[in-house]
Amino acid sequence: MPDPATNPPSDAVYAALQTVNDPELHRDLVTLGRVRHVEIMPAGVAQVGIRLESLTGPIRNRLRDDITEALMRVPGINSVEIEFSAGLTTAQPQAVKAKSAGESAPQQNPQIAAREGNPLPDIKHIIAVGAGKGGVGKSTVSVNLAVALARQGHAVGLMDGDIYGPSIPTMLGTDAYPPKAVGNTIIPYNVHGLKAMSVGSLVEDDQALIWRGPMAHGAFRQLATQTGWGELDYLIIDLPPGTGDVPLTMAQLLPLTGAVVVCTPQKVAQDDARRAIAMFKQLGIEVLGLVENMSYFIGDDGKEYDLFGKGGAQMLAHQQGLAVLGTVPININLRHNADAGDPTANFTGDDQLANELDALARALMQQVVAAQIELEQATPTISVRD
Ligand code: ADP
Repeated sequence: MPDPATNPPSDAVYAALQTVNDPELHRDLVTLGRVRHVEIMPAGVAQVGIRLESLTGPIRNRLRDDITEALMRVPGINSVEIEFSAGLTTAQPQAVKAKSAGESAPQQNPQIAAREGNPLPDIKHIIAVGAGKGGVGKSTVSVNLAVALARQGHAVGLMDGDIYGPSIPTMLGTDAYPPKAVGNTIIPYNVHGLKAMSVGSLVEDDQALIWRGPMAHGAFRQLATQTGWGELDYLIIDLPPGTGDVPLTMAQLLPLTGAVVVCTPQKVAQDDARRAIAMFKQLGIEVLGLVENMSYFIGDDGKEYDLFGKGGAQMLAHQQGLAVLGTVPININLRHNADAGDPTANFTGDDQLANELDALARALMQQVVAAQIELEQATPTISVRD
């Protein structure tokens, strides 16, 4: 039995565990429901049970070190015993109780359920491209990232998840071609080395895409799961701007490798981007990095002009501990080729533009490899005691 005269209360241990973040999900262990039990034994021995999807690898080792360090700082704790066991995380009553009336309870990480029931097991990496607001070049970045990855030899799909304002059919030049289906499967367009599908291809041009919540959910689900993507290395999903219902639908449905956030360099644009980053984190989706679009302009004199200021994304990335995957200049060819439905031309005419876009894709791939290593280490085995 714990000795209340000499041992600290378990509340103090829970409070200490709330300072330890899961290295993958970036939220604390209590909120994530990873804490199975806490017991304080005589002589200040803290015994804690921790639930993990993976019982091997650096995540477990790092958690063991971080938990030990946090608990050893609690007055009265002299040693720490941790029992790791396999199991999914759930929201924990302690975290719910800690919220005051009117505040919403912490949500369960929707990505955990999505990983369990993955409807697209033949796709290696699903990557969402989001932005805090419209017009920053989110679709432009989605299209050019997808084309760059395909040009580097990968099997790539591009899904226009921007169901309220689909611009991918125009940008890929598929807008004049009706989609085909075999049974219930929508056949994606094979263009620019990609497989692509958009809600814009499935509804009339002038049909206002004012989806109510459940319809938006259904449209996104149908696009993702009824398109015949086949085997892919990457599926890039162009999300609607902002923080609406579609990202939540996506997070509940599809296991993502991560998200890319597109922003422009102005200071005012950083607040929007920050909201998008916070949304992905809340949904349990790792932010793989930022892309600064319309970063600068090269004039006919060959000089670089920072029309919107420069480095906003770097500053934001620094504050948030994120990577900047690349910068994309304001380039008239980008706009022209987008309107003409010919993104391949961005890689063949203008070396500087092509180099920026290729570098962006390579930076993304590096982040994907890093995220993949963390995920692969999350393979359930047996219960181990430290
Ligand atoms: P979003 O998806 O964020 O709403 P888009 O990708 O549709 O934004 O871009 C909005 C408009 O700006 C499009 O006409 C696009 O061609 C143009 N555009 C985007 N990025 C650039 C850029 N770097 N240089 C020139 N035009 C751009």
